[in-house]
Amino acid sequence: MITANSLSAQPKSWQMLWREAIRDPRQLLEMLALPHLAAQISDQAATQFPMRVPLGFVAKMRRGDANDPLLRQVLPILEEDQITEGFSFDAVGDAAAKGGTGVIHKYFARALLITTGSCAIHCRYCFRRHFPYAEETAASQNWAEAIAYLKSDSSITEIILSGGDPLSLSTAKLEELTIALTELPHIKRLRIHTRLPVVLPERIDAELLGWLRDLPWPATLVIHANHTNELTSDVAAAIKLIRPLGVSVLNQTVLLKGVNDNSDEQIRLSERLFEIGVLPYYLHQLDKVQGAAHFQIPDQQARDIHQSMMRALPGYLVPKLVQEIPGEASKTPL
Ligand SMILES: *Cc1c(COP(=O)(O)O)cnc(C)c1O
Ligand code: SF4
Repeated sequence: MITANSLSAQPKSWQMLWREAIRDPRQLLEMLALPHLAAQISDQAATQFPMRVPLGFVAKMRRGDANDPLLRQVLPILEEDQITEGFSFDAVGDAAAKGGTGVIHKYFARALLITTGSCAIHCRYCFRRHFPYAEETAASQNWAEAIAYLKSDSSITEIILSGGDPLSLSTAKLEELTIALTELPHIKRLRIHTRLPVVLPERIDAELLGWLRDLPWPATLVIHANHTNELTSDVAAAIKLIRPLGVSVLNQTVLLKGVNDNSDEQIRLSERLFEIGVLPYYLHQLDKVQGAAHFQIPDQQARDIHQSMMRALPGYLVPKLVQEIPGEASKTPL
């Protein structure tokens, strides 16, 4: 397989690979020998939430396959322009739950930090595609407002770094945050929600591993893969570097029509995750966000897929099937 790095003698830094991401939908289609799909592109959707795909992720797509499950996750298409009843611009109630700048404190004992608005890849189904990131990230005033909020509530024992993608920040910036967090005696756990080990595994470099190794709390890394084809050997190699540090590695998946909406694929995904050292955590029914309705599958189909997984897999390889209902005290089993 051609990876972004195999073309040059010197391995490129993750920042350089980040900048080389493909941002023009028509260029992506040319690369995949699918120029005729250009008629399906929505320039309106691509303006509202620009396309962004790292070259390494493109390399995992099948050339000439209009239904490639990885391509479907990133290509801005006309279906996104449909306004669908019951779908919202703040699908999970984030705006209402903001506890302080960049902090979303919806669940007991867990506070989620919007560390940054940046992601290496833009997933079309993402519930944060309408989030006003510029005003809302915790990093914006050197973490000060977020830290002040977290300090004021000693019931918070777990900090979840989210975004955007927290690993899109420099390791120095992450260090700045975790050093500030060590001043809070009530913090017991750190969690990192990130798609980077899957979409840009080069991000797991020596510097980041050093940061993870030196964290003063037990840490969990929750990655996000939706299809087995995403879990290539470079991803496996990155996970293999993380696990010896004592970091638990879990995965969350979003059920997506035309991508992973069948039990065969979900079973294969769980088995592949285990093979590379990752346990399935959540299987999410799609958040009802405007522009993503064409990815939705019926609840009953989601339950049927989950039932098939329970029959075919050991319990520890069956993720919890959940949905996010605004105002609920936790994710809600479907
Ligand atoms: C999903 C989520 C969490 C984490 O929930 P867990 O069930 O602990 O994984 C925390 N805060 C917010 C706002 C979330 O959306
Ligand atoms: S937050 Fe996660 S799901 Fe959303 S665009 Fe970024 S990487 Fe994709």
